[in-house]
Amino acid sequence: MKRFLCAVLTAAMLAALASGCSSKETPADSDTAAASSETASSVAETKDEASSAPASDGIDYMVLVNKLNPLPEDWEDKLECVTVKNSVGNDVEVEKKAYDAYEKLKADLESEDIFVDLDSARRSVEEQQRIMDEFTRDHGADYAAKTVATPGYSEHHTGLALDLYLIVDGNDVTENDDMIQYTDIWAKIHEKLPRYGFILRYLEGKEHITGYGYEPWHIRYIDSADTANEITSKGVTFEEYLGAVKSSDVKIDLGSSEIFSEDELKEAVIQIKCKFASFRDCELHSITYAGDETCSDENIARMNDLDEGAEYTQAIKFTSEFHAYNSPVFDPDSEQKDYEWWLARGGEDGWQLVTWGY
Ligand SMILES: [Zn+2]
Repeated sequence: MKRFLCAVLTAAMLAALASGCSSKETPADSDTAAASSETASSVAETKDEASSAPASDGIDYMVLVNKLNPLPEDWEDKLECVTVKNSVGNDVEVEKKAYDAYEKLKADLESEDIFVDLDSARRSVEEQQRIMDEFTRDHGADYAAKTVATPGYSEHHTGLALDLYLIVDGNDVTENDDMIQYTDIWAKIHEKLPRYGFILRYLEGKEHITGYGYEPWHIRYIDSADTANEITSKGVTFEEYLGAVKSSDVKIDLGSSEIFSEDELKEAVIQIKCKFASFRDCELHSITYAGDETCSDENIARMNDLDEGAEYTQAIKFTSEFHAYNSPVFDPDSEQKDYEWWLARGGEDGWQLVTWGY
């Protein structure tokens, strides 16, 4: 039987490429959103290109774009945007339906004397590439990679991610450090998001899944109040929601570990599920912990070799069985066994999915 090698991505490598969300602490100004103040840790991903394709020719409002999932190739062809001017006089580009929903949200908030505006929304891949080139030229490739979001991997490319700023007592509050102080205002805003089809995207304490630190201002339009409600009421990230939807019948065997608690192993399983959800036309059957012996010095060293700059102190392996139907990677209609997932972590950081495949 032929075996195909899967692409091996290193989560830490991608995490090192800072995201394109909040940018106010960077040499580039906030409109370029070139860099990130967000904590980059690991990223779980959940996009399934095969099954979450939109019914019509329009965009898929449930698309997942994060540090491991790029913007779908034909996205920009299908995207319809509007351009609006915000209160500080900058043009902001937003996907059409997301903007309509935002206007309703805004009006609702104003009825309670809460005033917001759009700091930034859509950024094209091209623009991000231009920023990347500029930074590389001026500051070198290493610096650029650390400060500038990888073109193609920012949710802002979708036009569905909106960064809000606050207007408090008639003053524009646009700096992240200032905005984050207004916890009461954000709580009221967040409470209203689902009914207009928005979710808060980067939740507190979920950096190990989203790859981003808490961002009260970054909201994401998903075009369904019901789904937004479900995600919000469960308190899960978009990654976890999509991952769970894609793999609800999976047999999980955590074995018995003397090193890791069940919760620690489950955290690793979430990452695997999320990653698997991006395997096209594949159905996951099982995820099995390979045992404490995989956390050996040799394996830890191997993980550190794979992730340049990483300082992992623990490594674990899981295996999976899954069925590949019409996948571009695996033999057609084949049962895959002993597929490996390697995760590692160091210090207080969460698990990073370092490599996977055979
Ligand atoms: Zn953002």
